[in-house]
Parts: sequence; structure tokens; C-alpha cells
Amino acid sequence: MDIRENIPLASLTTFSIGGPARWFAEALTEEQIVEAVEWARERRVPLFVLGGGSNLLVSDAGFDGLVLHIALRGIEVCADGVLSAAAGESWDDCVDQSLKFSWAGLECLAGIPGTAGGTPVQNVGAYGQEVASVIESVRAYDLHERAFVAFTAAECGFAYRQSRFNTTDRGRFIVTRVDYKLRPGGAPSLAYADLKLHFRDWKTTPTLVEVADAVRTIRRSKGMLFVDGDTDCRSAGSFFKNPTVAQEVADRVRAIADERGVALRVYPATDGAVKIPAAWLIEQAGFPKGFARGQAGISSRHTLALVNRGGAAAADVLQLAAEIRAGVEKTFGIRLEPEPVFVGVALQA
Ligand SMILES: Cc1cc2nc3c(=O)[nH]c(=O)nc-3n(C[C@H](O)[C@H](O)[C@H](O)COP(=O)(O)OP(=O)(O)OC[C@H]3O[C@@H](n4cnc5c(N)ncnc54)[C@H](O)[C@@H]3O)c2cc1C
Repeated sequence: MDIRENIPLASLTTFSIGGPARWFAEALTEEQIVEAVEWARERRVPLFVLGGGSNLLVSDAGFDGLVLHIALRGIEVCADGVLSAAAGESWDDCVDQSLKFSWAGLECLAGIPGTAGGTPVQNVGAYGQEVASVIESVRAYDLHERAFVAFTAAECGFAYRQSRFNTTDRGRFIVTRVDYKLRPGGAPSLAYADLKLHFRDWKTTPTLVEVADAVRTIRRSKGMLFVDGDTDCRSAGSFFKNPTVAQEVADRVRAIADERGVALRVYPATDGAVKIPAAWLIEQAGFPKGFARGQAGISSRHTLALVNRGGAAAADVLQLAAEIRAGVEKTFGIRLEPEPVFVGVALQA
């Protein structure tokens, strides 16, 4: 396989930030994945697995190791509602395939950038759906055992923006294929408030395609659809996770909201905990949409997305993120956790 040297990574990420990969290879097959892994192992070179680069903040110094770009292709649709996607397939193309067959389950996940292989890693979710609820199995290469393995959804350890692949087993598995069990002819999910609002005047139930179109329209209005040239989506999507806090903490935040006379909507989480929108906390801590520090800023359409306004370095984004995190912590006593994966950089404590 072709192992190239000093390949710039910025153009392979949606943030458009990042220095070169010392070595870079593209895997089109599972055999090439094994080959690349062995190449790195023999040379004791660190390995980083790259999908669509839509959830990454890469150091300006780049990555001093082998970046393995997963480019396996192929989407198979089986009669029983299983859509089986090779890891390198564009996620949005997978959604479109499911819509073509009128299979429900992915319609609210339309417009999320990245690859199919990236979806189980952080259990992508949006507009009331998460891939965890439809994943039937994940096939992956185990770097420890040097063998291919398959996981059921239950074995993936899914939680909010979390799986075994980005927690306990981070860096151990390379996903090569994901099977999604969908509902042929099923009704669309309309659980999310923005979607309910969008369809409030409709006399008939929207189709799956209509729901996916609405999701893409709403995403575009918030700069959360990746559109070339749109600065507001030169990001990694949401930069912070929505914090899950104890009821007492939520009560404290509610008291501040009441004092300020601003509306606050919170959501129930598991075990009596409460999820608070990070965007609300950020705005109330004094960081509105469009806030900027040099070339790094907050999207002008979505408070949760930090953006590269043009020529920002990874350090600029991190500095802004640290300032926001400190501001939210000072105001509410809540520490925000970042969502993207950092390569060669870290968010200061
Ligand atoms: C505009 C915008 C909007 C977004 N909206 C959402 C949203 O609504 N919901 C949401 O959940 N996310 C959202 N994201 C984040 C991102 O799109 C998802 O996290 C996506 O699934 C990342 O996939 P990727 O292929 O780009 O992964 P990458 O960014 O390339 O990699 C992310 C992590 O996954 C690992 N990885 C990637 N592929 C594999 C593989 N095959 N095997 C093992 N590990 C792998 C990488 O090593 C890295 O650790 C958004 C991003 C942007 C830019």
C-alpha cells in the first residue's frame, strides 16, 4: 500500500486546522488496514484513525505518526431492514439510502458530516435520535488481538456521545463495517421540539424524506450542515457536550434563570439527573453567538459550535474554549466537557 509522507491534515478536517501527518495511508480494504497497522507496529510509530475529520481538532504541529484514512466503500441493503455500511461511506449517503427504501430510523440523523465508521465511536445523535438505537452490530479490527471482531449494540457500551470506542477501549478498535437495523415502512420520529414546531401546521404526517429534509433545513439555518465556504460550519459541530447534573445543581441554575427573568428548558436524564443545554449556559455566562477572539469564534448561528473564522490555529480555538469553560464554571459551577477528539493538543484544566 502507498504510504505517503508529510501530508497536510487541515483540508481533511471540517475545522480546516492541523499540521501534517508524518505518514499517511488510505485503506480501501480490511487487508490494507491490517497492512498499515503492521507497518506502524514494526516501526513503533503511533497510529491515528481518520474518518471524515468532522469531530477533530488537530495540532498545528500535526501528527508525528501514521494517519490511517478509512476509505472502505459499499452500502448493502438487506431484505430484513438491515443497512450494512462500510466504515468509509459518507454518513449522509447512508441516510439517503435508508430514505430511498422508506426505512425509518435514520431520518433525524440526516446532514451529520463524517463517515459511517465514525457513528458508533461517539454514538452520534441529533433531533431526538441516536445511532445506538438502530445499530445491530459493529465489525472492527482489534489492534490488541490482531483479529477482526463483531460487537452487538449491547456490547458497544453506548451512552450520550459515548461508546467503548471513545472511552474504555479508545484507540483499540478500527471500525470497518456497521449494520443498522431499520424499520421498513416505519413512521418518522418527531420527538424533537424543533421538528414538532416545523410541522405544527401540517394536517398529515410527514414522510421520512420530508422529516430528513426538515432536519437538513434546520441544520443549515444553524450552520450545522457542512456547506463549503460557510464559515459557521468550519467547526467540529458542537464543541461542548450538554452537561448532565444532579437535581440540586439544576435547581441552582433555575434560580439564576428566574432571577434574570430568562427561560430555561432542562431535560430528564437517567437516575434522576438532569441535562442542561450547554448553549444556554454559554450564552448566560456572557458568550453570545458571534463572539470572537481573533480568528477563533462562536458560530453566528449556533452558540455550541466554535468556528475557525479563517486562519485560526488549534491554540486559538483551545484558548477560546478554555475562556468559555472558565466563564461557565464561574457563573454556574458547572464544568463543560468538550465533544471533539483532540489530536496532539489538550484543553487546559
Ligand atoms: C457541522 C457539523 C455538525 C455536526 N453535527 C453533529 C450532530 O448533530 N451530532 C453528532 O453526534 N455529531 C455531530 N458532528 C460531529 C461529527 O460529525 C460526528 O462525530 C461524526 O460521527 C464524526 O465522524 P468522522 O468520520 O468525521 O470521524 P473523525 O472526525 O474522522 O474521527 C472522530 C473520532 O472517531 C475515530 N474514528 C473515525 N473513524 C473511525 C473508524 N472507522 N474506526 C475507529 N475509529 C474511528 C477517530 O479516530 C476519532 O477519534 C458534527 C460535526 C460538524 C462539523
